[in-house]
Amino acid sequence: MIKINENFLKMQDSYLFSTIAKKIASYQQKHPEKEIIKLGIGDVTRPIVKSAVEAMHKAIDEIGTPQGFHGYGPEQGYDFLRKKIVEFEYQNRGIDIKEDEIFLSDGAKCDCGNIGDILSIKNKVAITDPVYPVYLDTNVMAGRTGAYKEKEGTYEGIIYMPCTAENNFVPEFPKEVPDMIYLCLPNNPTGTILTKEELAKWVQYAKENKSLILFDSAYEVFITEENVPHSIYEIEGAKEVAIEFRSFSKTAGFTGVRCAYTVVPKELKGYTENEEEVELNKLWNRRHCTKFNGVSYITQRGAEAIYSEEGQKEIKENIKYYMENAKLIRNGLQEAGFEVYGGKNAPYIWLKVPEGITSWEFFDKLLEEVGVVGTPGSGFGPSGEGYFRLTAFGTKENTIKAIERIKNWRIK
Ligand code: PLP
Repeated sequence: MIKINENFLKMQDSYLFSTIAKKIASYQQKHPEKEIIKLGIGDVTRPIVKSAVEAMHKAIDEIGTPQGFHGYGPEQGYDFLRKKIVEFEYQNRGIDIKEDEIFLSDGAKCDCGNIGDILSIKNKVAITDPVYPVYLDTNVMAGRTGAYKEKEGTYEGIIYMPCTAENNFVPEFPKEVPDMIYLCLPNNPTGTILTKEELAKWVQYAKENKSLILFDSAYEVFITEENVPHSIYEIEGAKEVAIEFRSFSKTAGFTGVRCAYTVVPKELKGYTENEEEVELNKLWNRRHCTKFNGVSYITQRGAEAIYSEEGQKEIKENIKYYMENAKLIRNGLQEAGFEVYGGKNAPYIWLKVPEGITSWEFFDKLLEEVGVVGTPGSGFGPSGEGYFRLTAFGTKENTIKAIERIKNWRIK
């Protein structure tokens, strides 16, 4: 008899984006004349930059010729791209990362989920609350949690680190020591960052406790302030305790094309039950080669092109465009009297909903009274209740329109 992975039965259906879609559809049916502005989902709107598009066209032509054909590539990624990543993302920041510590993939989402394959299911996991749901759900599927507790909205066995206005959205060291710690910086959904000093404390904490930091820096390109680390490896000793996830999705508009990478330094060790040290780089390499057949040649040529002089200029223009939206949203919401966080080093703006209403009630009012869609904070975890996320990934025109509507809004 075929047995299932019963951990899936513990999963809570993610109603967040499907509920949002249903609510929009129902509103549109009732008010077909009303224009809705969507600042909810974190997908980009700017087209892929010209340099990358041209490089991909060229690669397509190349593979149609006998001498330019590319079949299966190296699972870890082509050298031409790994070299560029090492140079631009690490060496230029004074970080010593080697090419064989970089693993190309088809998404940071997959990597954040798949990394659990090389880690024991006995590990104790810590996540921030609110959180990018992938870290939590993949650990539930793997069996690193107990049952879901309906009343609290949490899973048994997971260490939740609340991040709210009270602690400035900076996670505090938990009472119980975790083995795996997920940190997403700049943060989705709160848009906050840690300074170098704050992140250094986490590196030290992980060292002292032999914990592993899973550092998601999918939004590092949006950092505008000084003293905010773009990579965890800017912190001394981090190579011994951290895996870093990066993505071309938000950096270069590759959400649909799919390209990302994970950095697993050679210095990073895990332990067997007998406390023998094992290189995580070796395990991840084995896992990657067994379960993944490489990112397409065309995609990797496209990603490589963003490191050209023209490519860098073009992607910086797009980032600037989104960050101007972020500023418009931040300032506009502040003028409208909201308490606002994030949006300075991240494309996400996290606002406090007015006293006395829930995140979902605020969602309904914003949709019905002004026709603007965002994401209720409670969808990212229990400590997200009372907050709301807007993204800067919309078009400038729509962002301006949405903010004007909110500024003229008197909540009923
Ligand atoms: N990590 C975070 C924190 C994200 O918010 C997202 C996408 O929204 C991802 C990873 C996914 O990246 P990718 O498109 O590379 O899978």
